Amino acid sequence: MNKEMKVKLYLHGVVLPLIMITLILVAEIQEGSKAAYIGILASVPPLAAVFGTVRMVVAISIIAWSAAFIDGIFFSYGNEMVQRARLMAILIISLMSIAAARIRARNERRMLGMVIQIAKSEAIERHSKLDYLTGHANRHGIASRIAQLNSGTRTVVMFDFDKFKWINDELGHKVGDDFIVSVSGRLAADFKQEDIFGRWGGDEFVAVLELPEAKAFSVIKRVIASACSSPVVISNFSLPVKVSAGVAEWRADQTFEQALVRADKALYQAKEQGGCQVVRFQELPDKGGHSPHAH
Ligand code: GH3
Ligand code: MG
Repeated sequence: MNKEMKVKLYLHGVVLPLIMITLILVAEIQEGSKAAYIGILASVPPLAAVFGTVRMVVAISIIAWSAAFIDGIFFSYGNEMVQRARLMAILIISLMSIAAARIRARNERRMLGMVIQIAKSEAIERHSKLDYLTGHANRHGIASRIAQLNSGTRTVVMFDFDKFKWINDELGHKVGDDFIVSVSGRLAADFKQEDIFGRWGGDEFVAVLELPEAKAFSVIKRVIASACSSPVVISNFSLPVKVSAGVAEWRADQTFEQALVRADKALYQAKEQGGCQVVRFQELPDKGGHSPHAH
Protein backbone atom coordinates (compact mmCIF):
# COMPACT_ATOMS: atom_id res chain seq x y z
CA MET A 1 0.00 0.00 0.00
CA ASN A 2 1.47 3.40 -0.94
CA LYS A 3 1.52 6.50 1.29
CA GLU A 4 -1.44 8.19 -0.40
CA MET A 5 -3.61 5.07 0.06
CA LYS A 6 -2.60 4.85 3.73
CA VAL A 7 -3.58 8.49 4.35
CA LYS A 8 -6.96 7.89 2.65
CA LEU A 9 -7.53 4.75 4.70
CA TYR A 10 -6.88 6.54 8.00
CA LEU A 11 -8.95 9.55 6.94
CA HIS A 12 -12.01 7.44 6.02
CA GLY A 13 -11.62 4.68 8.57
CA VAL A 14 -10.53 6.63 11.67
CA VAL A 15 -10.61 10.43 11.36
CA LEU A 16 -14.12 10.78 9.86
CA PRO A 17 -15.78 8.38 12.36
CA LEU A 18 -14.00 10.18 15.24
CA ILE A 19 -15.24 13.57 13.96
CA MET A 20 -18.79 12.14 13.82
CA ILE A 21 -18.57 10.81 17.38
CA THR A 22 -17.30 14.20 18.57
CA LEU A 23 -20.07 16.10 16.76
CA ILE A 24 -22.79 13.82 18.15
CA LEU A 25 -21.41 14.14 21.71
CA VAL A 26 -21.03 17.95 21.47
CA ALA A 27 -24.57 18.26 20.12
CA GLU A 28 -25.80 15.97 22.86
CA ILE A 29 -24.20 18.15 25.55
CA GLN A 30 -25.65 21.29 23.94
CA GLU A 31 -29.10 19.96 23.17
CA GLY A 32 -29.85 16.83 25.13
CA SER A 33 -30.61 13.34 23.89
CA LYS A 34 -32.54 14.52 20.82
CA ALA A 35 -29.31 15.55 19.11
CA ALA A 36 -27.87 12.08 19.63
CA TYR A 37 -30.95 10.59 18.01
CA ILE A 38 -30.55 12.89 14.98
CA GLY A 39 -26.83 12.09 14.96
CA ILE A 40 -27.57 8.39 14.67
CA LEU A 41 -29.99 9.11 11.80
CA ALA A 42 -27.25 11.12 10.09
CA SER A 43 -24.84 8.20 10.28
CA VAL A 44 -27.21 5.87 8.39
CA PRO A 45 -26.41 7.17 4.83
CA PRO A 46 -22.61 6.74 5.32
CA LEU A 47 -23.29 3.18 6.47
CA ALA A 48 -25.32 2.52 3.30
CA ALA A 49 -22.44 3.99 1.26
CA VAL A 50 -20.09 1.28 2.56
CA PHE A 51 -22.01 -1.58 0.93
CA GLY A 52 -24.88 -0.20 -1.19
CA THR A 53 -25.17 1.09 -4.74
CA VAL A 54 -25.55 4.83 -5.46
CA ARG A 55 -29.34 4.40 -5.87
CA MET A 56 -29.60 2.60 -2.54
CA VAL A 57 -27.67 5.38 -0.78
CA VAL A 58 -29.94 8.03 -2.40
CA ALA A 59 -33.05 6.12 -1.20
CA ILE A 60 -31.67 5.63 2.33
CA SER A 61 -30.64 9.33 2.48
CA ILE A 62 -34.17 10.42 1.53
CA ILE A 63 -35.66 8.13 4.19
CA ALA A 64 -33.18 9.34 6.88
CA TRP A 65 -33.78 13.00 6.02
CA SER A 66 -37.58 12.52 5.91
CA ALA A 67 -37.49 10.73 9.27
CA ALA A 68 -35.60 13.67 10.81
CA PHE A 69 -38.00 16.13 9.13
CA ILE A 70 -41.15 14.33 10.38
CA ASP A 71 -39.58 13.97 13.82
CA GLY A 72 -39.01 17.77 13.80
CA ILE A 73 -42.67 18.46 12.93
CA PHE A 74 -43.95 16.50 15.91
CA PHE A 75 -41.17 17.06 18.46
CA SER A 76 -39.42 20.32 17.49
CA TYR A 77 -39.98 21.88 20.94
CA GLY A 78 -40.38 25.15 19.11
CA ASN A 79 -36.66 25.49 18.25
CA GLU A 80 -36.86 25.83 14.46
CA MET A 81 -33.33 27.16 13.96
CA VAL A 82 -31.79 24.08 15.54
CA GLN A 83 -34.11 21.78 13.59
CA ARG A 84 -33.04 23.47 10.33
CA ALA A 85 -29.39 23.02 11.26
CA ARG A 86 -30.01 19.31 11.95
CA LEU A 87 -31.74 18.82 8.60
CA MET A 88 -28.92 20.68 6.85
CA ALA A 89 -26.34 18.46 8.57
CA ILE A 90 -28.17 15.28 7.48
CA LEU A 91 -28.46 16.69 3.93
CA ILE A 92 -24.71 17.45 3.74
CA ILE A 93 -23.75 14.05 5.17
CA SER A 94 -26.17 12.35 2.73
CA LEU A 95 -24.65 14.18 -0.26
CA MET A 96 -21.16 13.20 0.90
CA SER A 97 -22.31 9.58 1.28
CA ILE A 98 -23.78 9.56 -2.25
CA ALA A 99 -20.50 10.97 -3.62
CA ALA A 100 -18.52 8.34 -1.67
CA ALA A 101 -20.77 5.54 -3.03
CA ARG A 102 -20.17 6.82 -6.58
CA ILE A 103 -16.40 6.86 -6.07
CA ARG A 104 -16.52 3.37 -4.55
CA ALA A 105 -18.63 2.01 -7.45
CA ARG A 106 -16.25 3.60 -9.99
CA ASN A 107 -13.18 2.12 -8.25
CA GLU A 108 -14.82 -1.31 -8.08
CA ARG A 109 -15.66 -1.14 -11.80
CA ARG A 110 -12.06 -0.14 -12.55
CA MET A 111 -10.69 -2.99 -10.42
CA LEU A 112 -13.02 -5.48 -12.08
CA GLY A 113 -11.96 -4.14 -15.50
CA MET A 114 -8.31 -4.62 -14.56
CA VAL A 115 -8.89 -8.18 -13.32
CA ILE A 116 -10.78 -9.06 -16.55
CA GLN A 117 -8.02 -7.44 -18.63
CA ILE A 118 -5.32 -9.48 -16.85
CA ALA A 119 -7.34 -12.71 -17.24
CA LYS A 120 -7.88 -11.93 -20.95
CA SER A 121 -4.22 -11.23 -21.67
CA GLU A 122 -3.24 -14.41 -19.80
CA ALA A 123 -5.71 -16.40 -21.93
CA ILE A 124 -4.40 -14.75 -25.13
CA GLU A 125 -0.82 -15.53 -24.05
CA ARG A 126 -1.79 -19.18 -23.37
CA HIS A 127 -3.62 -19.53 -26.68
CA SER A 128 -0.80 -17.91 -28.65
CA LYS A 129 1.37 -20.87 -27.64
CA LEU A 130 -1.08 -23.55 -28.77
CA ASP A 131 -1.68 -24.95 -32.23
CA TYR A 132 -5.27 -24.18 -33.20
CA LEU A 133 -5.96 -27.55 -34.88
CA THR A 134 -4.35 -30.05 -32.50
CA GLY A 135 -4.19 -28.15 -29.20
CA HIS A 136 -0.52 -29.13 -28.80
CA ALA A 137 2.22 -26.51 -28.43
CA ASN A 138 2.95 -24.56 -31.60
CA ARG A 139 6.39 -23.18 -32.51
CA HIS A 140 5.95 -20.27 -30.11
CA GLY A 141 4.94 -22.70 -27.34
CA ILE A 142 7.90 -24.98 -28.06
CA ALA A 143 10.29 -21.99 -28.09
CA SER A 144 9.01 -20.65 -24.79
CA ARG A 145 9.37 -24.08 -23.11
CA ILE A 146 12.90 -24.35 -24.52
CA ALA A 147 13.76 -20.87 -23.22
CA GLN A 148 13.00 -22.10 -19.68
CA LEU A 149 15.32 -25.14 -19.84
CA ASN A 150 18.47 -25.43 -17.73
CA SER A 151 21.52 -27.25 -19.00
CA GLY A 152 21.15 -31.03 -19.21
CA THR A 153 21.28 -34.09 -21.45
CA ARG A 154 18.63 -33.89 -24.13
CA THR A 155 17.61 -35.33 -27.47
CA VAL A 156 15.70 -33.58 -30.25
CA VAL A 157 13.26 -35.53 -32.43
CA MET A 158 11.53 -34.48 -35.64
CA PHE A 159 8.46 -36.43 -36.82
CA ASP A 160 6.78 -36.32 -40.22
CA PHE A 161 3.78 -38.35 -41.40
CA ASP A 162 4.47 -40.56 -44.43
CA LYS A 163 2.50 -39.96 -47.65
CA PHE A 164 0.09 -37.72 -45.79
CA LYS A 165 -0.71 -35.63 -48.88
CA TRP A 166 -2.50 -38.65 -50.30
CA ILE A 167 -5.19 -38.38 -47.59
CA ASN A 168 -5.75 -34.69 -48.39
CA ASP A 169 -5.87 -35.29 -52.14
CA GLU A 170 -8.06 -38.39 -52.09
CA LEU A 171 -10.30 -37.90 -49.05
CA GLY A 172 -10.31 -34.12 -48.54
CA HIS A 173 -8.73 -31.65 -46.14
CA LYS A 174 -11.26 -32.27 -43.36
CA VAL A 175 -10.24 -35.94 -43.17
CA GLY A 176 -6.60 -34.77 -43.36
CA ASP A 177 -7.18 -32.42 -40.41
CA ASP A 178 -8.82 -35.15 -38.34
CA PHE A 179 -5.97 -37.51 -39.21
CA ILE A 180 -3.39 -34.96 -37.96
CA VAL A 181 -5.37 -34.54 -34.71
CA SER A 182 -5.67 -38.32 -34.12
CA VAL A 183 -2.09 -39.27 -34.92
CA SER A 184 -0.53 -36.35 -33.02
CA GLY A 185 -2.73 -37.30 -30.06
CA ARG A 186 -1.31 -40.83 -30.17
CA LEU A 187 2.27 -39.49 -30.27
CA ALA A 188 1.69 -36.94 -27.49
CA ALA A 189 0.12 -39.55 -25.21
CA ASP A 190 3.46 -41.33 -24.88
CA PHE A 191 5.44 -38.32 -23.65
CA LYS A 192 6.00 -37.26 -20.07
CA GLN A 193 5.23 -33.90 -18.45
CA GLU A 194 8.89 -32.80 -18.59
CA ASP A 195 9.21 -33.67 -22.30
CA ILE A 196 8.43 -31.00 -24.87
CA PHE A 197 6.12 -31.96 -27.72
CA GLY A 198 4.51 -29.73 -30.31
CA ARG A 199 3.53 -29.11 -33.90
CA TRP A 200 6.31 -27.59 -35.96
CA GLY A 201 4.01 -27.05 -38.94
CA GLY A 202 1.94 -29.09 -41.42
CA ASP A 203 2.45 -32.78 -40.65
CA GLU A 204 5.74 -32.17 -38.82
CA PHE A 205 6.01 -32.49 -35.04
CA VAL A 206 8.96 -31.92 -32.72
CA ALA A 207 9.87 -33.47 -29.38
CA VAL A 208 12.63 -32.65 -26.91
CA LEU A 209 13.29 -35.49 -24.48
CA GLU A 210 15.19 -35.27 -21.19
CA LEU A 211 17.17 -38.37 -22.16
CA PRO A 212 20.55 -39.30 -23.67
CA GLU A 213 20.32 -39.93 -27.42
CA ALA A 214 20.57 -43.75 -27.25
CA LYS A 215 17.73 -44.01 -24.71
CA ALA A 216 15.63 -41.47 -26.58
CA PHE A 217 16.08 -43.47 -29.80
CA SER A 218 14.58 -46.61 -28.27
CA VAL A 219 11.77 -44.55 -26.67
CA ILE A 220 10.91 -42.97 -30.04
CA LYS A 221 10.94 -46.36 -31.76
CA ARG A 222 8.41 -47.56 -29.21
CA VAL A 223 6.31 -44.38 -29.51
CA ILE A 224 6.11 -44.73 -33.30
CA ALA A 225 5.46 -48.48 -33.18
CA SER A 226 2.59 -47.87 -30.80
CA ALA A 227 1.16 -44.94 -32.82
CA CYS A 228 1.31 -47.01 -36.03
CA SER A 229 0.05 -50.28 -34.48
CA SER A 230 -3.55 -49.76 -35.59
CA PRO A 231 -5.31 -47.66 -38.25
CA VAL A 232 -7.27 -44.55 -37.32
CA VAL A 233 -10.89 -44.51 -38.39
CA ILE A 234 -12.17 -41.20 -39.76
CA SER A 235 -15.55 -40.82 -41.52
CA ASN A 236 -15.73 -44.61 -42.02
CA PHE A 237 -12.27 -44.65 -43.64
CA SER A 238 -9.78 -46.94 -41.96
CA LEU A 239 -6.45 -45.16 -42.46
CA PRO A 240 -3.12 -46.85 -41.74
CA VAL A 241 -0.73 -44.67 -39.69
CA LYS A 242 2.79 -44.23 -40.98
CA VAL A 243 5.24 -41.86 -39.31
CA SER A 244 9.00 -41.33 -39.71
CA ALA A 245 11.34 -39.65 -37.24
CA GLY A 246 14.87 -38.29 -37.06
CA VAL A 247 16.71 -38.34 -33.74
CA ALA A 248 19.70 -36.16 -32.80
CA GLU A 249 21.60 -35.53 -29.61
CA TRP A 250 21.26 -31.91 -28.40
CA ARG A 251 24.84 -31.23 -27.44
CA ALA A 252 25.70 -28.61 -24.79
CA ASP A 253 27.61 -26.53 -27.37
CA GLN A 254 24.62 -26.40 -29.75
CA THR A 255 21.58 -24.21 -30.00
CA PHE A 256 18.19 -25.88 -30.29
CA GLU A 257 18.02 -24.88 -33.97
CA GLN A 258 21.37 -26.59 -34.67
CA ALA A 259 20.21 -29.81 -33.01
CA LEU A 260 16.91 -29.60 -34.90
CA VAL A 261 18.70 -29.29 -38.25
CA ARG A 262 20.47 -32.58 -37.42
CA ALA A 263 17.22 -34.29 -36.42
CA ASP A 264 15.74 -33.03 -39.71
CA LYS A 265 18.63 -34.52 -41.69
CA ALA A 266 18.06 -37.87 -40.00
CA LEU A 267 14.35 -37.57 -40.82
CA TYR A 268 15.20 -36.93 -44.47
CA GLN A 269 17.26 -40.11 -44.45
CA ALA A 270 14.32 -42.03 -42.95
CA LYS A 271 12.15 -40.83 -45.85
CA GLU A 272 14.86 -41.73 -48.37
CA GLN A 273 14.92 -45.25 -46.97
CA GLY A 274 11.20 -45.70 -47.63
CA GLY A 275 9.66 -44.06 -44.52
CA CYS A 276 7.97 -45.61 -41.54
CA GLN A 277 11.21 -45.74 -39.55
CA VAL A 278 13.41 -43.89 -37.06
CA VAL A 279 16.92 -42.78 -38.05
CA ARG A 280 19.67 -41.46 -35.75
CA PHE A 281 21.73 -38.51 -36.97
CA GLN A 282 24.90 -40.06 -35.54
CA GLU A 283 24.51 -43.07 -37.84
CA LEU A 284 24.21 -41.04 -41.04
CA PRO A 285 27.04 -41.81 -43.47
CA ASP A 286 27.19 -38.18 -44.64
CA LYS A 287 26.37 -36.09 -41.58
CA GLY A 288 26.85 -32.82 -43.42
CA GLY A 289 24.34 -33.88 -46.11
CA HIS A 290 21.78 -31.45 -47.38
CA SER A 291 18.17 -31.72 -46.23
CA PRO A 292 15.25 -30.42 -48.28
CA HIS A 293 13.15 -29.98 -45.12
CA ALA A 294 13.85 -26.27 -44.87
CA HIS A 295 12.28 -24.36 -41.96
P1 GH3 B 1 6.30 -37.46 -47.10
O1 GH3 B 1 5.95 -38.89 -47.01
O2 GH3 B 1 7.54 -37.20 -47.86
O3 GH3 B 1 6.29 -36.77 -45.78
O4 GH3 B 1 5.15 -36.73 -47.96
P2 GH3 B 1 3.74 -36.22 -47.50
O5 GH3 B 1 2.71 -36.70 -48.47
O6 GH3 B 1 3.48 -36.51 -46.07
O7 GH3 B 1 3.86 -34.67 -47.70
P3 GH3 B 1 4.70 -33.61 -46.91
O8 GH3 B 1 5.07 -34.10 -45.57
O9 GH3 B 1 5.83 -33.14 -47.80
O10 GH3 B 1 3.68 -32.40 -46.81
C1 GH3 B 1 2.68 -32.34 -45.84
C2 GH3 B 1 1.37 -31.93 -46.42
O11 GH3 B 1 0.47 -31.67 -45.36
C3 GH3 B 1 1.42 -30.66 -47.23
C4 GH3 B 1 0.13 -29.91 -46.88
O12 GH3 B 1 -0.75 -29.85 -47.95
C5 GH3 B 1 -0.50 -30.76 -45.81
N1 GH3 B 1 -0.92 -29.98 -44.65
C6 GH3 B 1 -0.17 -29.11 -43.95
N2 GH3 B 1 -0.88 -28.61 -42.93
C7 GH3 B 1 -2.11 -29.18 -42.98
C8 GH3 B 1 -3.29 -29.06 -42.18
O13 GH3 B 1 -3.35 -28.32 -41.18
N3 GH3 B 1 -4.36 -29.80 -42.53
C9 GH3 B 1 -4.33 -30.63 -43.63
N4 GH3 B 1 -5.42 -31.33 -43.91
N5 GH3 B 1 -3.23 -30.75 -44.41
C10 GH3 B 1 -2.13 -30.05 -44.09
MG1 MG C 1 4.78 -35.89 -44.52
